[in-house]
Amino acid sequence: MAEKIKTVRGFRDLLGEEAKKYRFVVDTIRKILQRYNFEEIILPTVEYTKLFTRSIGEATDIVEKEMFTFTDKGGRDVALRPEGTAGVVRAYIENKLYSDGIYKKLYYEGSMFRHERPQKGRYREFHQIGAEILGTTNPLADTEVIKISEEILKTLKIPARIEINSLGCKKCRPAYRKAVLEYLISHKGELCEDCQRRLERNPLRILDCKVEGCKLIASQAPKITDYLCDECKTHYGSVKKYLNALGVAYTENPRLVRGLDYYSKTVFECVSEELDKTVIAGGRYDYLVEELGGPPTPALGFAAGIERLALLVKELPKEKPLVLVIPFGGEKEKIHALRLAQTLRKNGIRVELSYREGKIRKQFEFANKIGAYFTVVVGENELKEGKYPLKNLLTREERKLTLDEIIETLRNL
Ligand code: ATP
Ligand code: MG
Repeated sequence: MAEKIKTVRGFRDLLGEEAKKYRFVVDTIRKILQRYNFEEIILPTVEYTKLFTRSIGEATDIVEKEMFTFTDKGGRDVALRPEGTAGVVRAYIENKLYSDGIYKKLYYEGSMFRHERPQKGRYREFHQIGAEILGTTNPLADTEVIKISEEILKTLKIPARIEINSLGCKKCRPAYRKAVLEYLISHKGELCEDCQRRLERNPLRILDCKVEGCKLIASQAPKITDYLCDECKTHYGSVKKYLNALGVAYTENPRLVRGLDYYSKTVFECVSEELDKTVIAGGRYDYLVEELGGPPTPALGFAAGIERLALLVKELPKEKPLVLVIPFGGEKEKIHALRLAQTLRKNGIRVELSYREGKIRKQFEFANKIGAYFTVVVGENELKEGKYPLKNLLTREERKLTLDEIIETLRNL
């Protein structure tokens, strides 16, 4: 036998239930985003590497060790996108979406790539659906972004804790960074190897480290909330006030940073205890558009990890019951069954036309194997009579009905 080729480490097939849950998550989120009047943007998977190094930050895990980068045949340094925000911002600037002077609400969906150590809920190709609002400082927008995340979780019936924080701005963050750095230097010996390195390059990142020892040290670090300037304090206060007004339950985590450098002011994460991982995350990035060459444009957004949410979906919406149409006889019966199946489908009924040949008993076995609820046999007698036996495979009840009666019976199930 020829050599079998397998999937690449960290890359996966989604089959059966898993694919159904994946699609359920995506469809649910899209519907919610459309109700909030977000417009879809479809983005390329490959971008110049420097788009990500400049936005996500040189001293982040994603850029330092997780990016799939390569030189294309034209000698360009490109990368498979590790996240969606940078591409949205690039598109916003490149297409001058700011030119009409009103803020934009966009959403995207697709594959992201990060060279991480694969585990449950962590893959090298995974999928996000995310939304961005570009061109507003209004804390109403921060509130709605968090509210959308809550709505996604509630609709999917996934329990998760919503943690929020403010990362301050260019005015107040430097003093906080300094305080954290001083604190961490005093605990240098206890930090993991990665964090010892981060100490010089990006000390705030240490607060996001997943090593237990580092987490413990981070839990005693200074709190950003003690360092926020008046503007950031007021903004954060408004977000909390509006969230309370909507009845959104959240916890404040004054040491919540994020894995990407571009955030400012509001950040948040929805954490699933069952998975022990973040499932949705986002925040403000008021400087990013300008840093990528656009006009100063305050902005914010979130991204939901589709696989992680799908892992937590317990129940799928009911599918339409399947009907197996069984041709029984010669060419005439086959053609009649072919047409009958079409008529049922036109009426919104889910129909499989049996391609199996042979005994009727085998046909019923097949119907059970594919999970059909009903069968309709189309044979010589049926053609003569204009009536077909509709059999319910659960109750074993069988009735001879006209095509119209079959449609009437099945359409409203
Ligand atoms: P983590 O801290 O778990 O590594 P992150 O902070 O790197 O997550 P973000 O960059 O904020 O994650 O991405 C947003 C969401 O995308 C995450 O909350 C998660 O649901 C999902 N996600 C991120 N990385 C992966 C991955 N490697 N595999 C599957 N889902 C992922
Ligand atoms: Mg990560």
